Amino acid sequence: MQIPLDYHTHSRFSEDGDDSPEAMCLRAIALGIPEIGFSEHWDVGPHEQNPRFFQPEPWFREIERLRDLFAGQLILRAGIEIAEPHLYPEPAAEVLGRACFDYVIGSVHWVGPHFMFDEQYFSQHSADEIYDAYFAELGRMVSSADIDIVGHLDIPSRTAKPILGYDPARYKNQIRGILRIVIERGLALDINAAGLRKPSRNLMPDPLILKWFAEMGGDRVTLGSDAHAAGQVGLHLAAALGAVRLAGLTHITQFEGRRARPIRIG
Ligand SMILES: [Zn+2]
Ligand SMILES: [Zn+2]
Repeated sequence: MQIPLDYHTHSRFSEDGDDSPEAMCLRAIALGIPEIGFSEHWDVGPHEQNPRFFQPEPWFREIERLRDLFAGQLILRAGIEIAEPHLYPEPAAEVLGRACFDYVIGSVHWVGPHFMFDEQYFSQHSADEIYDAYFAELGRMVSSADIDIVGHLDIPSRTAKPILGYDPARYKNQIRGILRIVIERGLALDINAAGLRKPSRNLMPDPLILKWFAEMGGDRVTLGSDAHAAGQVGLHLAAALGAVRLAGLTHITQFEGRRARPIRIG
């Protein structure tokens, strides 16, 4: 099964990325993945360790150099992952004006002062408190943010699942409300495989959520390894693609200049 693209990757231009974009492109080529999108972190919230680490200008020059270098072998997309873009619309608009972006992933990494990868937070609160608060914040993001793709829709599960468990059916109304807005706005879901290399061993969103999305008429999805190193490019995307097919979806969405285009799954 051909993996058509990997749209959620972080190179060294993200504060937590290990490898150069070139090394990540070479890995995609070696795997036979025809299209890679870089989605560096743009984090500006008050609790971030390195706010505004990402500098789009030198990064975009490098993307353009690699587009030439790998012409005919690999399509490169210039994406970005903006954390809580609904809370920081001005810095979000600012960064989007500094390069020619193909797509914007909107993510919720923080709910108030709580980081969604903080095991201590998860061990001190109930599952309902955590997931209810998170989905409320996500609902605000999908309602108003200038984005194209919703990043890792149920991200707390990646860290919280081994500690607290995770049953998306408990939050069905909230999640379906979010999916309704996603569909109305024509946003895509990032089918994010990062959890498959973590102890949680989960795909995000959970396949049940993907099934609801398809049943409700949603049809825009992208695939993302959430690679932070070259060796993680494309990792577990066969499983992600399998889940997309199992949900009854027939296309993956490609983005160019922030316009969506469906490509048929082979
Ligand atoms: Zn993220
Ligand atoms: Zn990411």
